[in-house]
Amino acid sequence: MKKLLFLLIITLPAFSFAQDFDPPIERFHTYDEVTDELQQYAESYPNICRIQSIGQSLEGRDIWAIKISDHPQIDEDEPTILIDGHIHAEEILGVEISMMLIENLLTQYGESDSLTYWVSHTEIWIVPIGNPDGHQVVMEGTDICYRKTKHDNNLNGVFDYNVAPCLGNGVCTLIDRSDCDGVDLNRNFSWGWEGNPDNDEPCSEYYGGEAPFSEPEALALANLASDIRPSISVIYHSSRSGNYSEKVIFPWTGRYGLSPDYVHISDLARTMAGLIPTDSLDGVYGTLRTSENRGFANNWLYAELGSFALTVEVGACERIQPREAALIDDVCQRNLNGIYELFRRVHGVSGGVLTGIVRDAITDSVISGAQVQVVEIDSERLPPRTTDSFGRFRRLMRFSNTTSYTLRITHPAYGTRIIPNLMLTPANPVIDLEIELEEPGYGTLQGMVFDGASIAQPLAGATVTFRDPYVGSQHIITDSSGFYRFEEIETGNHYQLSIQKAGYDIQERPITIEDSTVLDIDFTLIPVIDFEGTPGGFWSSDSSGWQWGVPASSGGPASAHSDSTVWGTELDELYRPLSSFYLYSPTYTLVPDATGQVALAFYHWYRIRSTDGGNVQITTDGGETWTVIEPEGGYPRSRITVLDNEPGFSGYQSVWHHVQFDLTDYLFETVQFRFRFSSADSRDRGWFIDDVAVYGQEIYVGVEHTTTLASPQHLTLYPNYPNPFNPLTTIRFDLPWRTHALLRIYDASGKLVQTLMDEERNAGQHRVQWHGTDAHGQAVRSGIYFYRLETPSGQVTQSMVLLR
Ligand SMILES: [Zn+2]
Repeated sequence: MKKLLFLLIITLPAFSFAQDFDPPIERFHTYDEVTDELQQYAESYPNICRIQSIGQSLEGRDIWAIKISDHPQIDEDEPTILIDGHIHAEEILGVEISMMLIENLLTQYGESDSLTYWVSHTEIWIVPIGNPDGHQVVMEGTDICYRKTKHDNNLNGVFDYNVAPCLGNGVCTLIDRSDCDGVDLNRNFSWGWEGNPDNDEPCSEYYGGEAPFSEPEALALANLASDIRPSISVIYHSSRSGNYSEKVIFPWTGRYGLSPDYVHISDLARTMAGLIPTDSLDGVYGTLRTSENRGFANNWLYAELGSFALTVEVGACERIQPREAALIDDVCQRNLNGIYELFRRVHGVSGGVLTGIVRDAITDSVISGAQVQVVEIDSERLPPRTTDSFGRFRRLMRFSNTTSYTLRITHPAYGTRIIPNLMLTPANPVIDLEIELEEPGYGTLQGMVFDGASIAQPLAGATVTFRDPYVGSQHIITDSSGFYRFEEIETGNHYQLSIQKAGYDIQERPITIEDSTVLDIDFTLIPVIDFEGTPGGFWSSDSSGWQWGVPASSGGPASAHSDSTVWGTELDELYRPLSSFYLYSPTYTLVPDATGQVALAFYHWYRIRSTDGGNVQITTDGGETWTVIEPEGGYPRSRITVLDNEPGFSGYQSVWHHVQFDLTDYLFETVQFRFRFSSADSRDRGWFIDDVAVYGQEIYVGVEHTTTLASPQHLTLYPNYPNPFNPLTTIRFDLPWRTHALLRIYDASGKLVQTLMDEERNAGQHRVQWHGTDAHGQAVRSGIYFYRLETPSGQVTQSMVLLR
């Protein structure tokens, strides 16, 4: 080997790179030295370590791992950490970090409290040299810039490599090494392997091999990791180009965005990086996220095993193979700070640990292979996380005083368990659960859906949706008898049932079901005011404020919630700055009805600047005083200045959303609603309302609202207020232009009772009162009356109820 090196040097007479082509200095361990030292440790410290060959390299070198823990011969129910010192041939600093770590853990066990604790309570696995053949190429000086394995890609029986433009130490270099043999071990893992663009270029430094795990070295590491299931794993690298120098790299950013555990892994990576001073000592290591689609080892460890897998790039680029022993010692020492953070982390010192054991409730035996999902984190894209041979799961999460998590534990032989409201904080850093699984029980859910528009009539064609939030939804369409039925529902879980049909308000309800029961739940759907053809008896205080009609996407949502028309603030333009207006509803007398609810519900869509807002108000005294009513779940903003510090809707909710207001407090009252909107000095698309439902209405008096509009945008006869009334009520109507207006009252048989108006009137809104008397001033009887507005261009009729 020395001879070959000499020959190569004299082929480059114009330069003197002698030092650059010398093998790394003797401070670096050779493969044989590592092997010898590990064997000596195993003999000297048999109570806290053992060594194991996890496989052989292509050339037959054992890939050594050392396990450091008390009771090293047995697997214990302890968190596991895996350290791999070396994967790219020339990146040999990690070997030295590994060897220094091993020495410290073994020699300081019993001396240092923290190291003693960590060794006693952690399963620590260290693989100092993961690519022994490549390590040999570098350490012998054959090619100190070599990167890959020694796979004979072209099967010519010769090791094809290229020393030539390797300019290495002293400068950061991007080098074209053109080594036509060898596989990049850190492109040979299966996760995202197919995304590596260099897979069909064997001479590339990034060649990922003929197939995932084609390299025995990659397979050996994957097999070890699958056995020991490390909570955290670290693979050491160095970056000769300098592009990645002195960084902690974590999974990932990819086709589907960030990795599901991103916020938790990045928290670990940042904490670790912040503890490792750089070679220049003027800062600490940085962080970087990996690309998902490359066949990286750490992506595989994370994706397949759930390990928080980090790539640590050690050493500044100009000294990835330092030529002074002191510098090597120094970079190792600084990196131990980072490793020690991992021990703190798995024991809940600097971040949360959500752990537990899953057992059979009857036999008490542990259940391995149970799937344990953190509902708020886990994605179906990754394999499920499962319990190990101890029935144990372990999840690392950053501390948060605001985010709680839900565990969902499933196993084919058992019923599902949901454990909500788990929060990991510095005061409560470790949650260790005992979870018992029982055989699953099943029940049945069934019922009838009734039509709120007519008493006790079943509603056919309603869609009943049974939603298991973790599994999916089932739909049933009610038949002509209004019946629905879901069978074999697993007991003890939380489900959501919703019933909907076009033209009716949606009903939603959480459901749990007990063992082997049949749960009967009936529903009554009530019709919505959909604003199609009529403004629904609603009216605006300002015709350039709330408007009734078809929204344009320039001014609001792309379409109505149902059909085409809505009420909205400026239908085809942004709302104006410094505006303030109200949308008034008809009046309603709230009584107990078949739905069992008293509520206001509607769909809305809004894009409202944070300085602006809207809310819903109610009056019980004919509009003298108005009170803000709160939607279920509250308003998004609790104080809006332009609403006189009332709460309101504000911000962006650019999909139609159902909102409901409980009105139980207003039972037996005659009420009216208004939608208040105000803006500061700003503009946006505004607030849009559709499909309004009022629960608890006296709508079954047997009379239809016979609103027919000649020119619906303009000629409008509003419902009287109050209604029912005794004896005084107010009738309002809009005239689009100056015209003759005839307003008359008829009784239920169609007989004329009273003429309230018969004259020319100006365009605009008009109010006329009726005192419940006939043309002779005599009080008329209780009952239904009709009032009709007639103009030369059309007529409109509404009904009302007089209750003496
Ligand atoms: Zn590397």
